[in-house]
Amino acid sequence: MKRLIFFVDPISRLGIRKYSWFVPLLTMILLSVFSEVFALWIMNNPDSVGMYAIFLFVAFIIYFAFRDGIKGGVIATFVTTSYYGYIIYSRTQTYEELIVSIQATIMLTLVYLALALLIGWLKQKIDSLIVREADERRRLQAIVQQLPVGVVITDGDGNIIQENKQIDLILGQSAKKNLTIDKEMTSKGSQKNSKTSQAQWPLIQTLTTRKSIIGKEFEITRDNGKKVFVQISSSLIENKEGKPIAVALIVNDVTQQKEMEERKDDFVNMASHELKSPITSLKLYIELLSRHLKSKKDRKGSKTVSSIMSQTERLQELVSDLLDVSRLQTGKLSFKKEIFRIDQLVQETIKTLHDSTNNHKVVVSKSPPINVLADKFRIYQVITNLVTNAIKYSPAGTAINVTVKRSNGKVVVSVKDRGIGIEKEQQKKIFDRLYQVTDSKEKTFPGLGMGLYISKEIVRRHKGSIWVESDKDKGSTFYFTLPLQQKSVTKKTK
Ligand code: ADP
Repeated sequence: MKRLIFFVDPISRLGIRKYSWFVPLLTMILLSVFSEVFALWIMNNPDSVGMYAIFLFVAFIIYFAFRDGIKGGVIATFVTTSYYGYIIYSRTQTYEELIVSIQATIMLTLVYLALALLIGWLKQKIDSLIVREADERRRLQAIVQQLPVGVVITDGDGNIIQENKQIDLILGQSAKKNLTIDKEMTSKGSQKNSKTSQAQWPLIQTLTTRKSIIGKEFEITRDNGKKVFVQISSSLIENKEGKPIAVALIVNDVTQQKEMEERKDDFVNMASHELKSPITSLKLYIELLSRHLKSKKDRKGSKTVSSIMSQTERLQELVSDLLDVSRLQTGKLSFKKEIFRIDQLVQETIKTLHDSTNNHKVVVSKSPPINVLADKFRIYQVITNLVTNAIKYSPAGTAINVTVKRSNGKVVVSVKDRGIGIEKEQQKKIFDRLYQVTDSKEKTFPGLGMGLYISKEIVRRHKGSIWVESDKDKGSTFYFTLPLQQKSVTKKTK
């Protein structure tokens, strides 16, 4: 039955570029013979084929042009014309009749031929479009299948229309279901409700806000109970009119990466812990040695020991920064919050930095008393980092201005230098872990790119923000905010 439909129905043959000449030829000859039989033996009137021959044969020419393209249409027209020729030959008696009939047949043939060519050409054009589209889809499918990441493509309502094998390997069947959504979820907007799983959020968000989501991390449980970390990105695909037609979800398994990072953090944590105690003892011995040399009035020796001391202190700072970074990564950095005057802390910090600020004019502007609830040592660390950076990245003799102000229910601390400045595109990145500006000029500054990352995390965990305003070669101003503590209570809180 299927084969018969395929054989007869021209629509089912769309996209198949096999054009037969035999079927139209045979059918049209049989049709002509049948018409003759019908006229001569059934109707007993040779002229009864007149109108009937015109309509029936036109219908068949259109059919074959649509079934077998230009080839089918032209063959059908050729047989029709031949049959019309036979009718003229067998029916006309007078010369005038013959001339009129020939003229009419030529006219009809031209019309039929134009019809056959036009329909045949359209049919062939549609076929090649369908084939091209199918090839395109196959190519895309092959690419999607070969990608090393999981890919799910949904329609504009969030129903899956395509996916690759990787997605099953990464997530497994049930977790994949947790990733995709149904129409009801998008109509409810982007709010998460009890029915939507966390991982569905990127798809819902993309469909409702029309914004792409890049690399959001989620923990997903596979069918076998194993937990995996995945990074999900989703982007909206719109048609020419801007209507959303699909969403592409890219799922990357980052479990191994996470485990590696965890191992690395553990190692840094352990190594910096191990380094801490020998450095502390080293400092004690250096102090003893320094005292001993001073009592012996050995000035040269004292000078050398003082250099050893300052290098050891630098080493201690580095180790303590390393420890802080690993504590931040593992979420082990805790804060002891208390209420204190931040304006006073800024003044005290600048005083403790006295040695390193010798070559710069550090000016702290006057400020009224401002209380904050924060970890005093950690905030001291932030101020120290910003001021030592200002010193490090600006030429000797230039001024550094530090201000403390109230603004919109917050306290804003700023540190302004007239140094090398930071390019616009680097300004966000400098707060990333281990990020340093790689510029031939700046390479001469020592550091590991940990200070601003630690400062950002400390400020962020105090519900504040940190940012920089800077122009290359003109200097930078770093700002950080902390929520104000209205009441001036002196009680300690944790
Ligand atoms: P580092 O130990 O390298 O100073 P930080 O995290 O404190 O690490 O700073 C990150 C990078 O930001 C620095 O390497 C430097 O390129 C840039 N930077 C920080 N402060 C300043 C500043 N005041 N002026 C110019 N560049 C700065």
